[in-house]
Amino acid sequence: MRAYRFKKAFLPSGWADEVGVEVGDDGVIVRVTPGTAPDGAEKISGIALPGMPNLHCHAFQKGMAGLAERRGPTGDSFWTWREVMYRFLSQLTPDDVEAIAAYAYLDMLEAGFTTVGEFHYLHHDPSGQPYDDIGEMAARIVGASASTGIGLTLLPSLYTYGGFGGAAPNPGQIRFINPTGRFVTLMERSRQIVAALPGAAIGIAPHSLRAVSPEQLREATAIFADGPVHIHAAEQIREVDDSVASLGARPVQWLLDNMNLDGRWCLIHATHMTDDETARLARSGAVAGLCPLTEGSLGDGIFNGETYLAGQGRFGIGSDSNIQIDAPAELRQLEYSQRLKARARNVMTETEGESTGRSLYARALAGGAQALGQRIGAIAPGHRADIVVLDADHPDLAGAGGDMVLDVLMFSAGRALIRTVMTGGKPVVRDGRHFAREAIAQKYRSTVSRLANG
Ligand code: ZN
Repeated sequence: MRAYRFKKAFLPSGWADEVGVEVGDDGVIVRVTPGTAPDGAEKISGIALPGMPNLHCHAFQKGMAGLAERRGPTGDSFWTWREVMYRFLSQLTPDDVEAIAAYAYLDMLEAGFTTVGEFHYLHHDPSGQPYDDIGEMAARIVGASASTGIGLTLLPSLYTYGGFGGAAPNPGQIRFINPTGRFVTLMERSRQIVAALPGAAIGIAPHSLRAVSPEQLREATAIFADGPVHIHAAEQIREVDDSVASLGARPVQWLLDNMNLDGRWCLIHATHMTDDETARLARSGAVAGLCPLTEGSLGDGIFNGETYLAGQGRFGIGSDSNIQIDAPAELRQLEYSQRLKARARNVMTETEGESTGRSLYARALAGGAQALGQRIGAIAPGHRADIVVLDADHPDLAGAGGDMVLDVLMFSAGRALIRTVMTGGKPVVRDGRHFAREAIAQKYRSTVSRLANG
C-alpha cells in the first residue's frame, strides 16, 4: 500500500484540498479522503489531476517528426505525407520500433498522458513476411510500455487491402497486411503478450473502411465480441468520396447504418460528418477519437464539434502521428479550431459560466477511458492511480483557483506546469523528468540518427 497527500486534487465531485489517496499493491486506488490523509502519507505539494488517456497513437511515427515539412513538387496533402511515412517505416527493425516507442511513451508521460492506445499496424518484416513470432512487434510495444510505466491498451490492426473495393496493397503497405485468419492468430499471440503487463488491455483496430471489407468487419467484431473496437473514419475528403463510390455511403454513415455502433466503438478522426451523421454518432454512445494536432498537421479538416457536443457526444484525444506530444496542447488545438470555424469563443462548453478548460479536460478523460476499455481517468476508488501533479507555485498559476487551473494549463502555461506523474501509484516523472530519460533518449537519438542517414 502507498499513500499520498496532495495539496489540491480534481476529484469526480470537484476540487478538494489536502486530499489523501491510498493505492493498493495492484496500483488501483483504494481510498480517497479529502481534508485528511493517513499517517506516513508522502506529501506532494501540488495540484493533482487524473492523467489523460491518449486514445490514438502510432508510436513509430514519432521517429519521422519533422521529415515531412518541406514543400513537394505538387500539392502536399495527407496522401503525400503517407508516402513519406511508408518510406520511413520500410526500414524499421523491431529494435528500432521499441526504441522509438519508448521515447514517445516517455514524452507522453512528461506531457500529461498516462495511458496510451497503440493502434498497431506495423506487424511484419520489410518483405511482408510475419516474424518467427507473429507477435514480435506487439511484444516491442509492450516492452516500451513496460520500460516507461505508461498504461497500455494494445489495438492490433486488421489491414488487408490497399484501398476500397478490395484493392491490392501497394509496396508501402506490405508490412501491415493480414487476411482475417492470420489476424486471429496475431490477436491470440498478442493477448498472451499483453497478459504479462499488469493492467494492460487489448482491443481490435480494423484499420479503416479502405483496408477491410464489410464482411471482414462483421466477422472480426463478432469473433472479438468484447473490448474496444477502433477504426479510422472520414479523415479525408477523398476517403469520403471513395466510400460513397464504393459502398454507397459516407464512412460514418456506412458504419452507423451497418455496424451496431455502441460504447465499444471509437471512430478515429470522424472529421467529415454531416450534421445528421454527427447527431447519430453522438447518440450511439461511441467515442470520437480526435487528434487535433495531427489533424492540423495533415490538413485533414475540422471536427463538427458544436453539433456533436449539443448531442452529448463523447470524445477523447489522441496524439496519432506524434508530430507533437502534449496533452494540454491537443485540447487547446481542439478548442481553437472550433473557435476559428465558428468565429466565436468558448465553443466546447455548454452552460454559462462553465470553464472551457474543465469542460475539455473532463470530457476527454471520460471518453478516453471508455475508448481504452480501462478503469482510468478519475481520482476515485477502483480506478488506477494515474495522476498528473501540477506545480502549484508556478508563476502562471498565481491567483488561479478551482477550474481556472485547468484554463491556465490548457490555454496559457501548457505542459510546463507538470511536475510529477504517477502511473499505478508509482511516480515515473519527478521534477518534470522521466526516471529513465537519459538511457531512453540516448537510444532514441542513435536510432533516429542512423535512420536519417541510412
Ligand atoms: Zn491514426
